[in-house]
Amino acid sequence: MCTLYASKHVLMKIDDNKVVSIHYTLKDADGNLLDSSDGRDPLAFIHGTGALIPGLEKELAGKGKGDALQAVVSPDDAYGPYFDELVHTVPKSGFQGEGDIEVGMQVQVETNTGPSIATVTEVVEENVKLDLNHPLAGVELHFDVEVVEVRDATSEELEHGHAHGPGGHEH
Ligand code: ZN
Repeated sequence: MCTLYASKHVLMKIDDNKVVSIHYTLKDADGNLLDSSDGRDPLAFIHGTGALIPGLEKELAGKGKGDALQAVVSPDDAYGPYFDELVHTVPKSGFQGEGDIEVGMQVQVETNTGPSIATVTEVVEENVKLDLNHPLAGVELHFDVEVVEVRDATSEELEHGHAHGPGGHEH
């Protein structure tokens, strides 16, 4: 008869202040690819620091290395709702810098609350339509995630508030 010994090495679960590395694919509700870590280092982040959208952090909590999950995250748990009033029409002449203004370009604009990034969504004659919504505002996010690694954060990482090494910050 064999004796089974319980492993002393308990699989580390995702929790606050763990450094987590994930491979992910992000699609919208229609299946259009929005982002992916394919061909890159897995994304490394400190769990519980707001590095990821809240909806995805929630789904990852308690998972361990090798786990795979699919998560559908509503805009409220992701980049928020889409606000029509954040779309502004401004004259082309207000733009500084070289080159043409083209649809899809991202430009920095000054707002009441400081600098912000806007997306050019339309160019009609001398006017430009600027959308100050986050590009993923109002979008339901469909994630396919694989947990590649879970480890304790170093004190330096906790001090900096981000993960170091491949897929994280350089310093
Ligand atoms: Zn650092």
